[in-house]
Amino acid sequence: MNVTGTHFAYYWICHRKLWLFANGINMEHTSEAVSDGRFIHETTYERRANKFTEIEVGGVKIDFYDPFQRVIHETKRSDSIEEAHQWQVKYYIWVLEQHGVLDVTGLLEYPTMRQTQRVELTDTDRQTLEMVIAEIARLVESDSCPPRVRKGICRNCSYNDFCWSGEE
Ligand code: SF4
Repeated sequence: MNVTGTHFAYYWICHRKLWLFANGINMEHTSEAVSDGRFIHETTYERRANKFTEIEVGGVKIDFYDPFQRVIHETKRSDSIEEAHQWQVKYYIWVLEQHGVLDVTGLLEYPTMRQTQRVELTDTDRQTLEMVIAEIARLVESDSCPPRVRKGICRNCSYNDFCWSGEE
């Protein structure tokens, strides 16, 4: 399968969310959080499209890449799922490495919080990435959807109604 940055982020957020998304059950159009994130993405750095390049490599699309500094810029709404955001960017760095683009770093940007977070890929991360890619393939190709697990993130998840409708 072609593992994308979204698959990678969802793996860290919730295995059920990953399975639903990967199996074509998409409810992001009903999610306020997703709309907010898209709005921030499109308006906060309007001029950056002139400065950075959108690239597609190895099946992943990176919206803002600075080819001179070799920096991936990834904009997010909040840092509540920062680990997932970090792994998404690490995955992008790894994919670029696999295609011969070396010494890339990432910058996670949270414009509403006026914060940035530098992201680097270590040897330990490379080993973890390879294990996670295999695990993602195993999970999404499984016939059964992973069970729901109540987490703080459920409140803002686009599958909240799907998973918890009728529950208190
Ligand atoms: S609502 Fe919660 S359990 Fe359901 S997919 Fe989202 S994060 Fe996972």
